[in-house]
Amino acid sequence: MEQIVSSGIIDSYFEKLKSNLSVDVAIVGGGPSGIVAAYFLAKAGKKVALFDRKLAPGGGMWGGAMMFNDIVVQEEAMPIIKELGVSYKEGANGTYIMDSVHTTSALIYQATKAGATIFNCYSVEDVVFHNDAVAGVVVNWAPVIREGMHVDPLTIMAKAVLEGTGHDCEIARVVARKNDIQLNTPTGGVIGERSLNVELGEQTTVENTKEIYPGLFVSGMAANGVSGSFRMGPIFGGMLMSGKKAAELICEKLGN
Ligand SMILES: Cc1cc2nc3c(=O)[nH]c(=O)nc-3n(C[C@H](O)[C@H](O)[C@H](O)COP(=O)(O)OP(=O)(O)OC[C@H]3O[C@@H](n4cnc5c(N)ncnc54)[C@H](O)[C@@H]3O)c2cc1C
Repeated sequence: MEQIVSSGIIDSYFEKLKSNLSVDVAIVGGGPSGIVAAYFLAKAGKKVALFDRKLAPGGGMWGGAMMFNDIVVQEEAMPIIKELGVSYKEGANGTYIMDSVHTTSALIYQATKAGATIFNCYSVEDVVFHNDAVAGVVVNWAPVIREGMHVDPLTIMAKAVLEGTGHDCEIARVVARKNDIQLNTPTGGVIGERSLNVELGEQTTVENTKEIYPGLFVSGMAANGVSGSFRMGPIFGGMLMSGKKAAELICEKLGN
């Protein structure tokens, strides 16, 4: 029995990993924008692998605000919440309130159910750069990176890479620094996010969701970070709409 358990896990895992060595879309970061993008891409029939360095993907959504585990979503994003089957109640002024643990787990469930594969405990440390375009991601175990161990990574090839890593915009920074290129941002580089403004932050999260270099798209706080826009605190509609927009832009680029 012991051997059956171990070989069941090992055989299944390596089959999963091998079948994701080349994908349509590699998503870096399993925050709300990345997971929603994974859901809509998988629903559109794309082969999607999402990598998150944490044991539990979900990014900054689990904890609500200051660990009060409820979140706020505005009216415009409610079609996404309804499509994903999340339970909610009405708040004030056209807002809706939902339990953050319920919502995060619903997003993860629906994305994987739609066909996206999530690889947790993976850190993306670089991209594959071919013919002046981003063509994949360079991955390693998150604990290997954390421990600073001298272990070479593996690569996952992708027709498009979506960065949804949150505030630090790690991937855009690496791509700009290592390849001496201009990103599609007002300065050509990563500008860094501004202080908090809820309304503008929500609006610009969606506006800044775009392809910032051939093959590299950004969503969520990473989109605001690269373009120098505002953070917004624990309102999540912009993140959800950003993920959906990213999926639409990528589908448009990749075609059928
Ligand atoms: C710890 C934390 C604290 C936050 N605090 C605030 C705050 O005070 N105010 C505010 O407005 N927003 C804050 N946010 C972000 C906030 O929760 C967002 O509004 C929302 O969660 C952002 O969603 P996102 O999709 O951009 O990704 P995030 O929720 O930020 O999630 C990003 C995910 O990417 C993963 N990741 C990052 N880099 C890599 C990499 N190289 N390889 C693999 N995975 C990677 C992370 O593990 C994380 O799960 C915080 C997020 C986190 C994770």
